[in-house]
Amino acid sequence: MTTISVAGAEIDTRHYIGGQRVSSAETFTNTSPIDGTFLGEISRGGQSEADAAVAAARAAFPAWAALGPQGRGVLLHKLADLIEENNETLSQLETMDNGSLLRSHRRGVMPRVAMNIRFFADWAINELHHEKFETRGHTNNVSWDPSGVAVLITPWNAPLMLATWKIGPALAAGDTVVLKPAEWTPLSASFFADLTKQAGIPDGVFNVVQGYGKEIGSALVAHPDINRISFTGSVPTAKVIARAAADNLTPCSFELGGKSPMIVLEDADLDLAAEIAVEQYDNAGQVCLSGTRIFVHENIADEFAKKFGEKASAIKQGDPRDENTDIGPQIHQVHFDRVKGFVDRAKAEGQEIVWGGEPNDELGGLFFKPTLVKNPTEGSEIVTSEIFGPVLCMMTFKTDEEVIERANGTEFGLAAVVVSGNQEHAKKITDVLVAGTIWVNCFFVRDLRAPFGGSKKSGIGRDGGTWSFDFYADVKNTVVSPNGWKE
Ligand code: NAD
Repeated sequence: MTTISVAGAEIDTRHYIGGQRVSSAETFTNTSPIDGTFLGEISRGGQSEADAAVAAARAAFPAWAALGPQGRGVLLHKLADLIEENNETLSQLETMDNGSLLRSHRRGVMPRVAMNIRFFADWAINELHHEKFETRGHTNNVSWDPSGVAVLITPWNAPLMLATWKIGPALAAGDTVVLKPAEWTPLSASFFADLTKQAGIPDGVFNVVQGYGKEIGSALVAHPDINRISFTGSVPTAKVIARAAADNLTPCSFELGGKSPMIVLEDADLDLAAEIAVEQYDNAGQVCLSGTRIFVHENIADEFAKKFGEKASAIKQGDPRDENTDIGPQIHQVHFDRVKGFVDRAKAEGQEIVWGGEPNDELGGLFFKPTLVKNPTEGSEIVTSEIFGPVLCMMTFKTDEEVIERANGTEFGLAAVVVSGNQEHAKKITDVLVAGTIWVNCFFVRDLRAPFGGSKKSGIGRDGGTWSFDFYADVKNTVVSPNGWKE
């Protein structure tokens, strides 16, 4: 069987290389995290499939680059149209494969996936220019040239959303692409490949290979004939990729993990703060940006905890296909065990678990209850490590100086949330927080024009607007003298 049927569509389980479906002798098994349903045997690529995909992308590069932003934009807009037309199939597929909410895929995620493609296509056409400037009568002309073959490696927590943050700017910049999705969520990328074909994107411009990170992933990132590596995933994997990329000096963009602070100041609207705090359980806590360390001023801590408790106890955990469900399962048994391990060790250390702290036995399978750890010991692993599950820590603080020091006291710097009724007070805090994105009195507002990425170990580089093109393109300055050289 090389296809599986989901929501009335046939999804291919093979690689997509040079516009053709290619199978591997070996496969790996893909199951749904919702109930363990067998989804399919997926082609398990290695060195030869990596070589074939890079060769196909290399061969397609000159013509794709020569098409220019306008020519590419027509095809990319057609692709975005097809994503919108196939919203239902993509939504059901993603929910089956990674267990996140069907309603948010239908209403939020898949429309954003289409927007990721449109936005960068238009940005390449309309916004990629620099004021020409003069140097003693010579004109500096800055341009963003296609750079070659971009290898994109993505995680499982928001498969197509995160992949298209990379695919959009890479293709719009004129690069050709080899995408390797995470092995726990291979399906939406495969269906997406079919849409690129229908959109008329030439064979070889976009390729998808399936398999394990240590096999085909490491073959791709060590490949001498690639020009960019864009990776979203964990810090340990990023270190392995950086070492492999070093041999060829391949430029890397890294979007990595976090252990973000959420700070509730004494002057905060506590209903708003509680609402934002329970949002941190979104996607069963499998969100890199989550504010998992909640710092609350000691004078309002009891009232905040009461409001938080009311909202948290109303969270409905269940089948992500159900309209009323708020959070679903963990992605995979391996990940479930990892999350449970953190909580079990916290319990063994005597940390105070206020909510949850155990699997949801009523639902069984991979469902872990939303969990809150109160005032955990400073420096304990539940406070310092990224858990990537529905586990929040709540701590109190006395002064601004103290909370700033504790919030910044982490190896990560991805995001932060500040809740305050006083803009000046909030600014005093945000001015000195170290994070790629900070939200004040809100959460998860993401404009594609804005830079997105992490400080410290949360990443290297920024996505969004021209920042994306600075990475995927070769930025060039051509200095022209109109009347001979006048030094
Ligand atoms: P992971 O690092 O285990 O895997 C990510 C991808 O890398 C997968 O496709 C995997 O197959 C591949 N990979 C693994 N080893 C490889 C190797 N040696 N060479 C090449 N590729 C390899 O991460 P994960 O568990 O899939 O995702 C969770 C992590 O991703 C968390 O740390 C989370 O914070 C992070 N994340 C970050 C962002 C962000 O935007 N900053 C967004 C989502 C997730």
